[in-house]
Amino acid sequence: MYQEPSSHRIDPVTGDLSASTSCYEKRLTDLEGIYLDSKAFSQALIEHADTIVYRVNERRPQQSAGDLVFGTTYMKPGRVGDEFYVTRGHIHATANRPEVYVGAGGKGLMLMESPEGEVRILELLPHLAVYVPPIWVHRAVNVGAEPLVMSFFYPSDAGQDYGIIERSGGMAVRIVADGNGWKAVPNPTYRTRTAEDVARVMASTDGAFS
Ligand code: ZN
Repeated sequence: MYQEPSSHRIDPVTGDLSASTSCYEKRLTDLEGIYLDSKAFSQALIEHADTIVYRVNERRPQQSAGDLVFGTTYMKPGRVGDEFYVTRGHIHATANRPEVYVGAGGKGLMLMESPEGEVRILELLPHLAVYVPPIWVHRAVNVGAEPLVMSFFYPSDAGQDYGIIERSGGMAVRIVADGNGWKAVPNPTYRTRTAEDVARVMASTDGAFS
């Protein structure tokens, strides 16, 4: 009747998670429409369509509310044009569910956006825990020269809405190269969410974790 406690090793270079229960990968070809520079994207597709941009290893003990899903994300370093590799990003389908990320290897950012378009950017570095509060859209960015590896933990009834970013033409800012570093620049294709859009997000919450 009790679940068995378990421990899991995280490889800070490959992102492997021991005893994970599922895994998925996103290749460049799966990420069409995410990057601004469509010419650079087409060129990158010709050269390395099958490049795995990121891989997620997960452990899902059970689906019932109150449990946790946890796992690791491994992201290759790289750019499309001057824009660093990003994960697709999402808001939780039950929007008021939080998430914690802990850096394990490499150098990245957690790019977050409120439904109204307020932006927060926090560094994702080894041994640094980043708290993504309820109701923030979030996406990871690899701004380093090495693979970015992080672990994540979120409530098992959170779910993911990936369409929220697509519907607004991307996130409010894009993370681009700036010398040896990075900078956030306004995204020209971004459309601010209407009051109705924001109301729809707020309607997809429930009483818990508010
Ligand atoms: Zn999430």
